[in-house]
Amino acid sequence: MARKKIIAGNWKMNMTPSEAVALIETLKPLVKNDDVDVVFCVPAIDIIPAIEAAKGTNINIGAENLYFEEKGAFTGEISPNMLVDAGVKYVIIGHSERREYFAETNETVNKKVLKAFEHDLTPIICCGESLTQREQGITIDWIRQQIKIAFLNVTADQAKKAVIAYEPIWAIGTGKVATTEQAQEVCKAIRDCIAEIYDEATAAEIRIQYGGSVSAASAPELFAQADIDGGLVGGASLKPDFGKIVNYNK
Ligand code: PEP
Repeated sequence: MARKKIIAGNWKMNMTPSEAVALIETLKPLVKNDDVDVVFCVPAIDIIPAIEAAKGTNINIGAENLYFEEKGAFTGEISPNMLVDAGVKYVIIGHSERREYFAETNETVNKKVLKAFEHDLTPIICCGESLTQREQGITIDWIRQQIKIAFLNVTADQAKKAVIAYEPIWAIGTGKVATTEQAQEVCKAIRDCIAEIYDEATAAEIRIQYGGSVSAASAPELFAQADIDGGLVGGASLKPDFGKIVNYNK
């Protein structure tokens, strides 16, 4: 069975609650495409108004992070139950900005992935290499390590439902898109790694996105690659261009 494409916006730390509602009003007629699962991952404070604004549309609202404990003395964190109760279905885990600025590690990513699955949230698990790692020729080894730790103790049935976002750090927010060959090579290596951890059936079902300066111009070729099942989009997800990215196949 063909994998359904999934295209997610990562709003990062942009949009106040009222701006979020206005943006969804602008984008909702533009992001209709039955061939694609459409997700807007928004700041925590925007989740509830965004869910309200997206009612009756094909837009799913996701979170940009969660904490791996259920409740308690963790000032400033958001629990999985809070996300589920608000109506969230997807959550980005281990974005490179969280790894860089908030000290997230492969191990905390794994804890968050397990917690997301425990609560039936679909994790969008980010991985990606730095420019130095690419230049040193260790991209695939690095990504395989990130994937193997992120999926520790995750069952095959859970893994099938996961989304992995391959995001080379040097391509995020820089305007430098990976070539389709570079993106396909790593996405295939990720699928092969999942087949090694689990089996071919799990690898065939899991969805793998490319992320890093995706635009309306680069999306069609990237998303046509055999192992690329859509994209995680930062900057362009805040603009009407996101409609063109979602409709890359029209
Ligand atoms: C991202 O933040 O996940 C991302 C891919 O950003 P951009 O599209 O702006 O490079």
